[in-house]
Amino acid sequence: MITKFTPHIIFLLFISTFASAQDHVCGVVHPTDPAVIESVQAIEEHTQEWILEQQNSATTREIITIPVVVHVIWYDESEKFSELEIQAQIDGLTADFRKMNENRFTIPEEFQPLAADVEIEFCLATVTENGQETNGIIYKYTDQLNIGTSSNGIKRIHYDQHGGSDAWNTNDYINIWVGQMENFEGLATFPGTAPVPEEDGIVIDPDFFGFFCSTSNGSSHGRTLTHEMGHFLNLRHIWGTNSGSGNCDSDDFVSDTPRQDISSKGCPTHPQESCGSNNMFMNYMDYTDDACLSMFTHGQKMRMLATLAPAGPRGSLRNSNGCDKMRDKSLSLNPDKILIYPNPAADCIHIDLDLDADTDMRMEIFNSIGQPVYSSRIFAKDLRTFDVSRFSNGVYFIYFETNSNGASKKMVIERR
Ligand SMILES: [Zn+2]
Repeated sequence: MITKFTPHIIFLLFISTFASAQDHVCGVVHPTDPAVIESVQAIEEHTQEWILEQQNSATTREIITIPVVVHVIWYDESEKFSELEIQAQIDGLTADFRKMNENRFTIPEEFQPLAADVEIEFCLATVTENGQETNGIIYKYTDQLNIGTSSNGIKRIHYDQHGGSDAWNTNDYINIWVGQMENFEGLATFPGTAPVPEEDGIVIDPDFFGFFCSTSNGSSHGRTLTHEMGHFLNLRHIWGTNSGSGNCDSDDFVSDTPRQDISSKGCPTHPQESCGSNNMFMNYMDYTDDACLSMFTHGQKMRMLATLAPAGPRGSLRNSNGCDKMRDKSLSLNPDKILIYPNPAADCIHIDLDLDADTDMRMEIFNSIGQPVYSSRIFAKDLRTFDVSRFSNGVYFIYFETNSNGASKKMVIERR
């Protein structure tokens, strides 16, 4: 049900969010400045109106690709992520948004029809603000602990002069800063809430950044970034601001996410009930462990698309030239350009074929003595993450074949 909120009601709904206790996991910034509250109200009205318009008009959609720049502000050598690791994290983010995540098959049956391909992709910037070529990554050493935490009211991580890194034009790029934070895994600015454009973006603590697709690496699959990107594109927590006292008043302004009375933890088994319905704890906007998060809904997709609509608060991002000069891609499979990460893997892998076109192809996996253990017809573009939990420890060869050529890559499965 889409409700047309009056500004007054919107105001009250937002007021309730300011009273919420500080999140343990995610530090989204709720505004207190009346001018910011007003801007958030205006954005909410636009969002509701845009969604309503879409229901009455048949539109052909396009895939929106948004350039990102990753500022790695490292204190410890271990926080200096490689280009490969960062690429895999951004591709993993895209996989979640395109419903190509390895665990999409675990979505409970009752929620499967609600799971959406959000049709938004993210690319590491290939062109700087000044038209120079770039890999979209900035590395900076810092000698300050918890650079992502404010000090004397200054958000240091966003500024060169305070030991962080200046944002690239926030109209054209999504800025993602990776740096230590004292209390949060990640935080993001809702549309219309950044005090200054230079502080608009996402901050992720290095412990929760990267596409760690392995149970031996704890619970992180890089989905802190998926969650924060949801906030950046105007999604709220799935439980609203309900605090678990049986109160279900607060909503997330999304019609197809069931109300929930509090955030989830760990990896619950379905069903978990609250507010008279089953909890959608596997939604990226809950606090469930990464491995058990698997979907956005159609309603959430519409909110995000409203944010990126031409007249939306982040509409300028869709016209950015930040990824215009794409990396050299090819039409044929080249083993040197196929990215498989992590390798060794335990439960899933990220595959990037670096192809220029969506190609109809075959993927076959052979064990170390050449026996076929998996075979499937696939579209190259569907290959973002792949579940390997069914394979036992050992060395495998993945063979990719298109109509014109083939290439093989070694994959190691290693579980302790
Ligand atoms: Zn959050």
